Amino acid sequence: MAATADEALLGGRGGLSTAAVSGARPPDGSISLAVNAGRSPSPPQPLRGDTRMEWGAQRPRRRLTVLSGPSGVGKSTVVAEIRRAHPQVWLSVSVTTRAPRPGETDGVEYFFVEDAEFDRLAAGGDLLEWAEFAGNRYGTPRRPVQERLAAGVPTLLEIDLQGARQVRAAMTDALLVFLAPPSWDELVRRLSGRGTEPPEVIERRLAAARVELAAEKEFDITLVNTSVRNVCRELLALMSVAGGTAPER
Ligand code: ADP
Ligand code: 5GP
Repeated sequence: MAATADEALLGGRGGLSTAAVSGARPPDGSISLAVNAGRSPSPPQPLRGDTRMEWGAQRPRRRLTVLSGPSGVGKSTVVAEIRRAHPQVWLSVSVTTRAPRPGETDGVEYFFVEDAEFDRLAAGGDLLEWAEFAGNRYGTPRRPVQERLAAGVPTLLEIDLQGARQVRAAMTDALLVFLAPPSWDELVRRLSGRGTEPPEVIERRLAAARVELAAEKEFDITLVNTSVRNVCRELLALMSVAGGTAPER
């Protein structure tokens, strides 16, 4: 059964989903990954200088991984595949003021909350980061993330650019992964083809997508989503989770 937003803030439940690849994108079916210029390459490593053990656990504290990218690029699809096939990865469940889409379940994809509840969480410092995106607010419950990282659990956030920037500022060792589309046209096709938003919302999301694509170099690494399976494999490898395959460089 799905947990409530308050339960999530008290510790949550098990739960989520990449460099400067500018210019040409690979043809469908191939993978492209590059380490972004201007940022130090960040292969998966134990936390530098931080091997504290907590809760009597035998595992060192983990580094947080953040997946971002423009709306429609395939983030939720990648996250759903990781949730299905790799339950050892903990996916943060965000709170949002957006209405659920058909098929979405409270406590699974999101905790769907009213504006007043979101205000309360944000004002109380219960959110690690939060942002307004295309007319709705989204935020990451802080405590469950801190607890999973302290326990050494591979932890993944799927959040927008503004949220990724806040995480970078708060947790300098976080790995920021940018998920890029093979091309702009393909992004438009995916976003429109999903059929979950009216045309004016699609327009707002495409406007946001232009801003997000321009920020790719702020991320540690980019994965181009030509194949969900390949992106999942690469992401898992970056997180040092079994089942991942190191990308060819
Ligand atoms: P996001 O969460 O980034 O907004 P979604 O995961 O909802 O994007 O994906 C948008 C659409 O693109 C969905 O219809 C999804 O099935 C499709 N999609 C995702 N990844 C791929 C891919 N590698 N190739 C083709 N279509 C994809
Ligand atoms: P959607 O409405 O399509 O589910 O999500 C819209 C955007 O909000 C996506 O870019 C998604 O990554 C982002 N998002 C989801 N949860 C969070 C969150 O907790 N914080 C922030 N900053 N963005 C989020």
